[in-house]
Amino acid sequence: MNKTTFGVIGLILGVAAVLDGFYAIALRSQYMAGGYLLLAVIAGIFITRFFCALCPIKGTCVHILPGYFAQLWKVAPRPYTTGNLVISGFLFAILFLPPIPSLFASPVLMFIFLVCLALAAVTSTRFLCPGCGNRFCPFMKEG
Ligand code: SF4
Repeated sequence: MNKTTFGVIGLILGVAAVLDGFYAIALRSQYMAGGYLLLAVIAGIFITRFFCALCPIKGTCVHILPGYFAQLWKVAPRPYTTGNLVISGFLFAILFLPPIPSLFASPVLMFIFLVCLALAAVTSTRFLCPGCGNRFCPFMKEG
């Protein structure tokens, strides 16, 4: 499998984790679940602004969609500032932390959530980070 295949699999796993969390929240409150989904979409869009837009390989992004949206911001690639990294970390926290209290009420949904995130992390660190062309990324490893 090439990097794009792993990149798309990683993106699908991330989206699956968010949808799993959405479902766990919806079992308690549909309004809260709707709010979470809206927040997650906004966080995802702003990740493309504060992280992906500065990426030198956004035009050939292995996850496809983030790179596509990153190019719409018309920002030139450059090294990340501390502010970029802090904001990006905060946005990732918005994506994945809010469902956790609801997931404690459903062990099966918690298991699915953790497996999706673990597989996405393993896929990235094992197959995507080594040799990645985003030389500004703090997780980049020489391939
Ligand atoms: S390869 Fe670049 S554009 Fe694609 S997800 Fe990673 S940082 Fe964003």
